[in-house]
Amino acid sequence: MTRISVEQARELWLYAPDEELQRLAQEVRGRWHEREHATYMVMRIINYTNVCVAQCDYCAFYVLPNQNGGYVLSRDEVFAKIDELLEVGGDLVAFNGGFNPKLPLDYYCDLFASVRERYGERVEFYALTVAEFVFLADRAALSYADAAARLRDSGVHWVTGGGSEILTEDFRKRHAKWKYTVADYFEAQRAIVESGMKTTATMVIGFDETLDERLEHLQRTRDFQDETGGLFSFLCWTYKPYGTAFGGTEIPPREYWRHIALSRIFLDNVKHIRTSVLTQNEEAFRALDYGADDFDLPIEDEVTQKAGARIDLDLEGLLEIPRSLGYTLEYRRAERPAAIARA
Ligand code: SF4
Repeated sequence: MTRISVEQARELWLYAPDEELQRLAQEVRGRWHEREHATYMVMRIINYTNVCVAQCDYCAFYVLPNQNGGYVLSRDEVFAKIDELLEVGGDLVAFNGGFNPKLPLDYYCDLFASVRERYGERVEFYALTVAEFVFLADRAALSYADAAARLRDSGVHWVTGGGSEILTEDFRKRHAKWKYTVADYFEAQRAIVESGMKTTATMVIGFDETLDERLEHLQRTRDFQDETGGLFSFLCWTYKPYGTAFGGTEIPPREYWRHIALSRIFLDNVKHIRTSVLTQNEEAFRALDYGADDFDLPIEDEVTQKAGARIDLDLEGLLEIPRSLGYTLEYRRAERPAAIARA
């Protein structure tokens, strides 16, 4: 099968039966992965602050700087959360928080250096999302290249493509006009790749985005990967509407599975397609039949939990579900970037 165009993707989405999408997705998946084999990680998202000035209308997590209920986790609280993760067998932390104007880039560099110093290679961490990175670099009046170098030199290996939701300028204006522009997003992500750190692509569906917007997001992601080769994986999850200003309802699992299949087919230059246990729970594993090859089991994420996500801590029970679907599972450690030498 050759690369499909946006028009062909549209046709598939509108008219292909599930079986056809699954067959094509498995064909692309098979270029990298054995048919009945999948990988997973156990991880914890540490939401270090809920103070944020971006005011995205789909977010139930943030408080404004002048409101009650804002917090910043202490260093000891962060360490305690990492220790708990290690105790349950996990080894990946993702830091994610609000755009807190009181926390400058130096604060993050110190935090990440202290995590690296304390845990060494026992824990890998996703330091920030591209969205937070844009905010911090701008506030520090640094170029993206200089900000990326500061993080890398503080022991950071990964800045993920989180906070992307739907990457069209119109979507940004409708829902998150103070967060970043799409042009800034990709410029920042390019600087992250060029610094030697690793990054990923993400997407969130189920707001009010149109099919055209979903396809534009996929097209931009594929173009970026063609140009840089820097995307390790693509993770899509679904919008949780509870407690948000935007509101709405959740999309059904079948729509999610079909979108995973379409993403697998379209993103023929991205090795890993990841399914979201955080937002789809047990239903996430069916996405392995639609072209996904990897997932994580999160033990905490306040951002999505505030909007209705349900965390299941019965990790062995969860792993039995993909096994019952016929998959053999292998634990995957986050890779250290080849461009960053071992200390
Ligand atoms: S989604 Fe992130 S950037 Fe937007 S308001 Fe919530 S915490 Fe802030």
